[in-house]
Amino acid sequence: MLTKTSKSLFITLVIIFLLTPSGTAPGRAIQSTPVKITIDAGHGGYDPGTTVSGVNEKNVNLQIALKVKELGEEHPALDFVFTRTSDEYVPLLDRLRYAEEQESAGYISVHANSFWDPEVQGIETNLDRYRANSGESKDMAELIQESIVGRTGARDRGIRYQRLYTRHTKIPSAMLEVGFLTSPFERKKLVSSSYRESIARGIIQGLLIYFSR
Ligand SMILES: [Zn+2]
Repeated sequence: MLTKTSKSLFITLVIIFLLTPSGTAPGRAIQSTPVKITIDAGHGGYDPGTTVSGVNEKNVNLQIALKVKELGEEHPALDFVFTRTSDEYVPLLDRLRYAEEQESAGYISVHANSFWDPEVQGIETNLDRYRANSGESKDMAELIQESIVGRTGARDRGIRYQRLYTRHTKIPSAMLEVGFLTSPFERKKLVSSSYRESIARGIIQGLLIYFSR
């Protein structure tokens, strides 16, 4: 949770960062006060998530998380930490406890969707219904959803509410469903590195906008 002071400091630093001409090394001050974000690659290890035609959701989620890790280096205003960076299973509550131990300002869980109808496609962001009025999660989720849809051109399925394990933390949190593995059209995209990069860039962009407001 950001205090008012650290939030205004962050905003100032983001403005400085945005005004810094490209190619110029960012200043030390910017690097020393990033906002920490936990990225959670859903499933892992013995839990593959959705599996369609040999494509495991756990791998798609992990590849997107690793892309955020790589691209995040370009954005010193954000400091990404990860619940997993390999093919291992981490219990759900341990993922949240990790985010809390890290004093994360946001928790983003990355998943891929499935449905019986292969025609169904698009990107949605799920929030816990018991935190439906939690403005911070909703504001953050909307900006990420908008940024990912904008960069991928995928169908916008909007923000949805479910009962999610993220109700067990007070950290603003969102569960992204970045596309349907059951849609042959979207599955083909989700296994492509360039498409996963668009998703990762959308996540980063949404977070930069949210935390600079
Ligand atoms: Zn999943």
